[in-house]
Amino acid sequence: MTEPVTMEPDEISLAEDHAALERVVLSSGPTARVLPSAQDLEHARALLIKSLPPKGLGFAQTKDHLLKVVVPGLNFASISPNYYGFVTGGVTPAAWFADNVVSVYDQNVQVHIPDHSVATDVEHRALKLLLDLFQLDEKVWAHTTVTSGATASNVLGLACGREFVLCAAAERNGVDCKSVGEYGIVEVLRASGLKGLQVLSTLPHSSLGKAAGILGIGRANVKSICANQNPLRFDLERLEMELALPGMASIVAISCGEVNTGRFATGGIEEFQKIRALCDKYNAWLHVDGAFGIFGRILSHVSDSKEFDSIRKGCEGLELADSITADGHKLLNVPYDCGIFFSRYAKTAQDVFRNPNAAYLATSAAADTVISPNSIGIENSRRFRALPVYATLIAYGRNGYRAMLEKQIRLARRIATWIFDQPEYAVLPRVSSKDELLENTFMVVLFSANNDDLNAELVNKINSTSQIYVSGTSWDGRPACRIAISNYKVDVERDFARVMGVLQNLVK
Ligand SMILES: *Cc1c(COP(=O)(O)O)cnc(C)c1O
Repeated sequence: MTEPVTMEPDEISLAEDHAALERVVLSSGPTARVLPSAQDLEHARALLIKSLPPKGLGFAQTKDHLLKVVVPGLNFASISPNYYGFVTGGVTPAAWFADNVVSVYDQNVQVHIPDHSVATDVEHRALKLLLDLFQLDEKVWAHTTVTSGATASNVLGLACGREFVLCAAAERNGVDCKSVGEYGIVEVLRASGLKGLQVLSTLPHSSLGKAAGILGIGRANVKSICANQNPLRFDLERLEMELALPGMASIVAISCGEVNTGRFATGGIEEFQKIRALCDKYNAWLHVDGAFGIFGRILSHVSDSKEFDSIRKGCEGLELADSITADGHKLLNVPYDCGIFFSRYAKTAQDVFRNPNAAYLATSAAADTVISPNSIGIENSRRFRALPVYATLIAYGRNGYRAMLEKQIRLARRIATWIFDQPEYAVLPRVSSKDELLENTFMVVLFSANNDDLNAELVNKINSTSQIYVSGTSWDGRPACRIAISNYKVDVERDFARVMGVLQNLVK
């Protein structure tokens, strides 16, 4: 007989460890480095426990292993204000505290059971607060849910769009509304007399293709309908031709915040209205991928200054969409994982996500406005992701989020205009004036070095300083660097100096 291992945590050292972790998370300054050193990584990899121990290590030794072996091998992507890779976001103190509560109480946000827990009500409230933050009317957005990220939200968007447009096409073809969720895509396509389903977008995020792959639409049927003179915008004539293709049903997906450039696919309400009108004319679903771009709507309340005009215009008209993706773990600065999804049609959602024959999962209360999350999203059991959302929104409010985003945009603009003046570097997409650059820069700066040799190595050279971290991408056929500013800890002057220092050193 092996001895049972005690699972009782030592409460005093737990509190000490917690305080130590809290200091790491909440310290607001730059970290010594943004990535672990090669030695730390090697050390961590070498000491990972390679086989399941028959007799467990016990709690104390496991804790020691995590703190001494695993933690030194982790990066500071979320903790450091100077990590500019992907769009990573940080974790606000309120969100961090809430996430700890989530772990301790481990609520399962599956079915709304009012007698058991307030968790589903909190999630419902958190989503309403988000609608308010984004200035979307809560009466219109009947299907709201918390997902694992923008990828999952895009899956929801295309799934709801697929359900809606194919069901409507079947009805137009004289067949009673046939649910794709119930009968499958093949049978509903046949009933609707259609050949296929396509997604029309401009430079969509890769996750949109992934969603199309998952849903039987096909990655090959995601088409970029980019204007010749500006690939970020729709060519509206071609969009109409695609929508009018006989035998095809369409979902139009607007890149509200293109991931390489941070720029927007639409430039104001009129353009959005035109796209909406085309969708109505050709029975297409209108989805918006606003993973980070939707946060531009927080800026709408800014006084009469023109500073953020172009960003506000880029997010105008989202209220006309059928479904919207947003990310929580990016600009909202809540911990991974957290995405957000809004759609107008609760019935469509239930037709897609219903659990068949699971009476035991039904919601107990009848006249109840909280829909059980398991009937409108992918998961059944899942984490109480909404608590950090709720906490951070009430802690900092509309003004707190506006101030955070303004700092992020100002830092991006500071860096972009500095790079614009450097003969060794170029900001992308190319602009003719600094004013144009200032106006169009959101919280992403895309740039390259003019010298091809330096440019080929630029991302590696920048990242090997470990002072800042940037993502590599390509633009117009050349390698390019991308700085995405998404952490609430931003300090414009301090962080500008750091970025400038790194870039100057490389061309000395
Ligand atoms: C990041 C991002 C996604 C994917 O988001 P995840 O949170 O990584 O799933 C989708 N669309 C856009 C525009 C993004 O920026």
